[in-house]
Order: sequence, then structure tokens, then C-alpha cells
Amino acid sequence: MASRAAGTYPPVPAPLAHPVVDTHTHLDICTGARLPLGQGEPEPQLAPKEDEEFPGLDFFHDTAQAADVRRIVQIGCDLAAARWTAELVASEYAGTTPAEIALGRDASELLSGVNARGAETMTPNARPGDAAESGAQNASIAVAEARAPRTWMLGGAALHPNEAPRLAEFGKLDEALTEIESLVTSHDRMRVVGETGLDYFRTGEEGIAEQQRSFRAHIEIAKRTGRALQIHDREAHADVLRILREEGAPEVTIFHCFSGDEAMARECAEHGYFMSFAGNITFKNADELRRAAAVAPLDLLLTETDAPFLTPHPHRGKPGGPYLTAVTARKLAEVRGMPEEDLCAAVWDNSTRALGSWN
Ligand SMILES: [Zn+2]
Repeated sequence: MASRAAGTYPPVPAPLAHPVVDTHTHLDICTGARLPLGQGEPEPQLAPKEDEEFPGLDFFHDTAQAADVRRIVQIGCDLAAARWTAELVASEYAGTTPAEIALGRDASELLSGVNARGAETMTPNARPGDAAESGAQNASIAVAEARAPRTWMLGGAALHPNEAPRLAEFGKLDEALTEIESLVTSHDRMRVVGETGLDYFRTGEEGIAEQQRSFRAHIEIAKRTGRALQIHDREAHADVLRILREEGAPEVTIFHCFSGDEAMARECAEHGYFMSFAGNITFKNADELRRAAAVAPLDLLLTETDAPFLTPHPHRGKPGGPYLTAVTARKLAEVRGMPEEDLCAAVWDNSTRALGSWN
């Protein structure tokens, strides 16, 4: 089967003036290892055609590095994806520990591994019209990555707000929550409980009680395990803020794919909640969101993709990858009227402050 054509994906943007972080992405869905949210079928525009297959993990690593998206947080938000995430986070793909280097896993050994895996996946089209050069550039990135310990990925796990009522219906919610807690503590690189929260867009009245119960349980897990909480809030701003107030928010609380207005951004700022902006900040009809991004305090700003979803304008609707965080970071800098380098440096520092060291 042929790999999906490079043209399916938006081109890799020019490298940023400073590296940046994708604090929320779904490589399980990007690579086809998991279908979205247990619904059986990927969204039509995200699924490969019959004679294609999804690109592999290395495509998403190499394109991200080429765009200076040097670090990511992989999020698994149903049980299967959460297990997959915990396994990936513990693997060499996420980070080679200094101990492994010391044990004699030298650069040439690591490099041969990179090449062997790279051969199975497509070469990212890093610079449109100059495939040879971009191939060489990515090869040198692979060499650099192989020589240095790879420390590019942290992970997170939770039950998505739309997944909670489904599990509750089968009497499986409590059991699933217990497993989420053990997956979140299964490895030091698992730093996030998320995405959890409320989704009144996709879940109707009948699911709301279980969704709120699941959200409260996740808040407890985050506090008990000392992990950051990543919140999915779709058309439920008031209830999300109220439940956080009632339960007491974890020390680090992040609104993933922030979707509120200026007033909500100010309220989040008051509580010290991080606001993570995704590709929808580039959408034509997103003026309100851009106003929110303009007033959010710089030290609470984060960037993400939610890939393969929310691919930025003008490629909206196409599948994306973590590399597109670069587009969002540029847009954020523009919206705030500040140099790209300063915006990215702030986001980079904020990510470490929120989630800890990637090393
Ligand atoms: Zn997500």
C-alpha cells in the first residue's frame, strides 16, 4: 500500500525564530493507530484513501523538528489510546534516557534505528518544490536527534468528556477511571491528566451528569498524582469554571484549545489557568478568539495543534500534525503584536513551568 501523498498534508512552515511546543496532540489518531474517540470511523477528510496508509510516527517527529516544534505532549483520551500513549511515552521514541546512552547505545546504533524506521515512512515535504534539500535537512535532523538523547515527548491520559457517558452506560466508568490513574502514574513522562472536562456540543442532556462526575473525578486524580489538568471545554464555559471552583483546581490547570472570549480569558488569568491556543485562532470567523488571545497574560500562554484536527487556515479540513504549531505560534505573535522570537520563547518557558522538564 502506498503511503498517503505528501500533498495531502499542508507544507512544513519555515523554521521559527525560537523553538516552540505542541502541548496537545493525538499521534494515535494521526498515525491511524487509534480511530477517534471510539466512534469507529475517522472523520472522512482525515482518513487515507483506499490505496493509501497513514504516515508513521517518524513523519510526525521529523516534520515537527523541521518546523522547530521541538517538543510535544501526546494525549490519549479513551482507554485504548491512553494505554497506547503510556507505552509510547516509555519507548525510545519519546526520550532516550542518559542511562541508556551510558549503557553503550551509541550514536551509530541509534542512527541505524532511525534510518530503518524512516525508510518505512514517507519523506516529509519540508520545503515545497525542493524535496531533495528538505530530505537532506531532515536527514541531518535525524542525525542530530540520534546523537543527542531524544527528549521530545511527554504524555497524558484521560477519558474524553464524550467518552465518559458512553462508559457509564455500560457500568464501566469507575473501572476506567481507576485504570486512567494507574496509566498516568505508570511513567515519569506521563505528566498530564487530560483531556477531560465538559462538551455540551456533542453530548446531550442525558449524558451531562456522568460527564460532570467524570470531570470531578479527573480533577481529583490530577491533584492526587500531582499532574497537570488539561481541560476540554466545548460550549460549557460557565459549568467548567464552576466545577473547578467547587472542587478546587489542581496546581496546574490548562484550558486545551482555549475557546472562550475576552471575559473568559480574564477570568482564567485571575485563577492562574494556562490558556493553550490551537489552529482555530487562524480561522476567518475567529475574531473573538483572537481578542481573547490578545488579552491573555503572556506567562499563561501555551500553543498546541490538537492534531490531526483543527488544521490552520488556509488548509482547514486537511489532516495535520504537530509541526503546524508553528503556524499557530506565528499567528499568536501577530495577534499580540510582538516579535515571533519573544512569543515562542515565552511559550517554551511556560511549557516547562506547567509540565516540568522534558529531559
Ligand atoms: Zn484533543
